[in-house]
Amino acid sequence: MKYIEPHAHMVSRVTDDYERMAVAGCVAVCEPAFWAGYDRSAPAGFADYFCQLTEHEPKRAAKFGLKHFCWLCINSKEAEDVKLAAEVIALVPEFLGRPNVLGVGEIGLNKNSRNELQVLEMQIELAATHRQLILVHTPHLEDKWKGTRLILDALKNDRRIRPERVIIDHVEEHTIGMVLDAGMWAGMTLYPQTKCTPARAIDMLETYAGERLWLNSACDWGVSDPLAVPKTALEMKRRGHLAAAIDKVVYQNPRKFLSQSAHFKNAF
Ligand SMILES: [Zn+2]
Repeated sequence: MKYIEPHAHMVSRVTDDYERMAVAGCVAVCEPAFWAGYDRSAPAGFADYFCQLTEHEPKRAAKFGLKHFCWLCINSKEAEDVKLAAEVIALVPEFLGRPNVLGVGEIGLNKNSRNELQVLEMQIELAATHRQLILVHTPHLEDKWKGTRLILDALKNDRRIRPERVIIDHVEEHTIGMVLDAGMWAGMTLYPQTKCTPARAIDMLETYAGERLWLNSACDWGVSDPLAVPKTALEMKRRGHLAAAIDKVVYQNPRKFLSQSAHFKNAF
């Protein structure tokens, strides 16, 4: 089995994780820009991070035969400071032409605050101006439904945004329908404690016939599992899904969405 890991924060993982993912059949890993676990104090911290994502991390992945791609933005957890956010957003265009950059992400909301929403709109503008794919982070727990609604409204407000070029990540049972109804793609994040379990993800796959859906581990510096996608593929097999259905969700679907990026398409 081969698979694509469409959302993983590899800068936070040890090199052994790359080896384990490659052994499990991973052929490409995509890394959205994220919170470092602490707030960066200046735009230069983000510039260094963007260099790490576009220069250093692809070399680490290549040692295990893995292609590495990334998404760039300021994440919603650091978006309360609108002035800082504007300065970071201004840095992004010079990196968009680098060969492993897929688009703008993971943008979105964390606590659904007014400032976060303003920064989200600035980043939608960035993506629209530069014709970039968009990857969206949705808030957790009780904020998820409202946050997803606000994000969909902000995206729909910009007529330049084509829904099939947007993936809304971390969907759950109560948000997946509104994302697919909007014509966008939906990502299911497999987390050991919070977010989605393999069983819940497979229930959703069966309900929505696996169209415009992908699975990811979103592994980061917290309690998470870089092998969550292949483990869920194994659980799908146990539940009687055919090899073609498993291949569609763990390989063909992410490949189809990501191939809308010339950088991804050229590398495959
Ligand atoms: Zn993430």
